[in-house]
Amino acid sequence: MKTKKQNADFLYVGRKLLDWYQIHGRDLPFRKTSDPYKIWICEIIFQQTRIEQGLNHYRNFIERFPDVQTLASSQTDDVLLYWKGLGYYSRALNLHKAALQIINDFDGVFPTEHDDILKLKGVGKYTAAAVSSICFGKHIAAVDGNFYRVLSRVFADDFDISNSKAFHYFSELALKMMPENEAGHFNEAMMDLGSEICKPRNPLCESCPLNKECLAFNLGKIPNFPVKTKKVKATDLELHYSFVEFEGQFLIRQRKDDFIWKKLYEFPIEFPVEWEQFITKQKTIAHKLTHKNLTIQISHIRLESQDVFTEFASENGFTIINEEESHLKSFPKPLENYLTNLFKNTSNV
Ligand code: SF4
Repeated sequence: MKTKKQNADFLYVGRKLLDWYQIHGRDLPFRKTSDPYKIWICEIIFQQTRIEQGLNHYRNFIERFPDVQTLASSQTDDVLLYWKGLGYYSRALNLHKAALQIINDFDGVFPTEHDDILKLKGVGKYTAAAVSSICFGKHIAAVDGNFYRVLSRVFADDFDISNSKAFHYFSELALKMMPENEAGHFNEAMMDLGSEICKPRNPLCESCPLNKECLAFNLGKIPNFPVKTKKVKATDLELHYSFVEFEGQFLIRQRKDDFIWKKLYEFPIEFPVEWEQFITKQKTIAHKLTHKNLTIQISHIRLESQDVFTEFASENGFTIINEEESHLKSFPKPLENYLTNLFKNTSNV
């Protein structure tokens, strides 16, 4: 059990962090609102995207879908289109489903209770804590990788962050540092310190407000923290696509709502064996997903008969589109890159 003195020390460190945040906190558009809808959208966008990369997406998304009603009543394709370029498209699909949940289960009003927020599709413990603390002042720590890194370094704490109890452990630690009624700002301060100063590699300790207290820094042991023992092994997966083209038009189909790349568009996978004579080139692309190493082979098939092209499309449920129309569809990143390269030289299509 901790003594009063130790808890006072924790609070002292927390206050120093807040003082630093008041002066150095980032001036971001979503920091000027406490609208839970906007905070939720920004938390989901910036989960796997750096702030600089995602800011324009955030602004465009909010402009197109300004409230939960608009988002819920929109077409999935439209939501995916505004997500284009952010990757991890399941986040967009979950946002859409959660918006419908808010309409159906919460009378269209964003839930105010932490446990209700946690019920929304795609909302995990981190996001629920961030929205609850920032919008509703709940005394909860929004623990993410930034918390793990900063706290384990400041306290030279070797608790394994791959342990399933890490979230709970570091939440408790963060709560000891969190002054009353400051949960939202405290969580934002930790996000800023973790991403701007206490970076995974080469932290800027000389500029850090906690460098006097930080044990890892003062002991010269920063590379030892955080401790992470388990690594999830990535599996290999091979995919074969055929880019089937006839005079500038090509075939696409929407993926199902399962496995990877849910609801995104893709090219045909199989084609009649006699089409092999029409393969003009093949490209192999390596692409990494979180737990998968993909090898994607794409065969460019240039058909000579329009009838064969349209018949294959209608019999197999493919849509015929051209370059311009393809810009309104969302493709998995490697297929998007393939198209971009192809369109660079329009004579290729
Ligand atoms: S002193 Fe360095 S290692 Fe310690 S919290 Fe600050 S930036 Fe991180």
